Amino acid sequence: MNATTYDDAATYSCAFCGEPNEIDVDISAGARQSYVEDCQVCCQPNVLRIGFDNVGRVHVEAEPES
Ligand SMILES: [Zn+2]
Repeated sequence: MNATTYDDAATYSCAFCGEPNEIDVDISAGARQSYVEDCQVCCQPNVLRIGFDNVGRVHVEAEPES
């Protein structure tokens, strides 16, 4: 699938093991999102903060769930 206005792929580095994880961001869910996703490599819970820059590109920050 191609990236569209409503759906985009982003990559974050796991806060625990540092491995890259690819996620699909549902842009229609809002410009600011935060949720927990388990790392695909080490299965630890990362708190992801989804945001968009001023050209609409997705960026993701990951931090360990406390
Ligand atoms: Zn990990």
